Amino acid sequence: MEMAPEIKNLERLCIHTITTKPLEFEEACARYSALGVSGISIWRDAVEGLDPGKVRSCLRENQLTPVSYVRGGFFPSIDAEKRGAAIANNINMLEEASEMDIPLLVLVCGADPGQSLKTSREQIKKGIETILPVARRLNVKLAIEPLHPMYADSRSAITSLKQANQMAEYFNDDFLGIAVDVYHLWFDEDLENQVKRCGENKNLFAYHICDWNVPTTDMLLDRGLMGEGCIPLKQIRGWVEAAGFSGFYEVEIFSTRFWEQDQNLFLENLVKAYIHHS
Ligand code: ZN
Repeated sequence: MEMAPEIKNLERLCIHTITTKPLEFEEACARYSALGVSGISIWRDAVEGLDPGKVRSCLRENQLTPVSYVRGGFFPSIDAEKRGAAIANNINMLEEASEMDIPLLVLVCGADPGQSLKTSREQIKKGIETILPVARRLNVKLAIEPLHPMYADSRSAITSLKQANQMAEYFNDDFLGIAVDVYHLWFDEDLENQVKRCGENKNLFAYHICDWNVPTTDMLLDRGLMGEGCIPLKQIRGWVEAAGFSGFYEVEIFSTRFWEQDQNLFLENLVKAYIHHS
């Protein structure tokens, strides 16, 4: 498989608000826009307390396309009451996404270390089954995001693209697909095939990028900027494009190191890294 062609402009660049966590939502929008960024994925905490109409007008004024709302899911629990609360929370998030015209809700599916991964996966299936009709009614799609297996204890019982494909294919629903995040999947020897399978079944809904720092000093908050680490980003993008994906390339970086930096400088470096290393 050939590498993906060079990226020449920012038409497909989307940034997750968590990437520039120190910035207030409106400031983030203005700065992304000033740099020519096209899309924005919105984390719930970034817009908490903001009127949805205000969010929509801010996006419009800055010519930013809303891409994903992050993040729903967390379905499993040994406690039935908590499982019910998770469903209610997901439905709230779908309503919020709809009010802000965000077309996709990302699902970090969840896990409970007090039960088997198999049981957690059954509860994830049940949770998705319950919220899918709401997603359809509100016209907001759902994307299962498989996570790196180091998060299998409490964040996701879905730890490979193969498992996510199986889940999406079980439902075979236009409103359910997958978010492929390189951070969670880059090392999978079967990744090329699974990306192909995901595309063939029309389940490839989103593509998240960053890099894997060597060494990684924190399992959650030490993601790298594209080109800083060891993820073969151009190769994976080649597979994703060959699978028919034509959406945004979403930069999603949690990093205490970058959050401490001047965010203007960081964003300039991010754009350079996107062009040269994604
Ligand atoms: Zn992601």
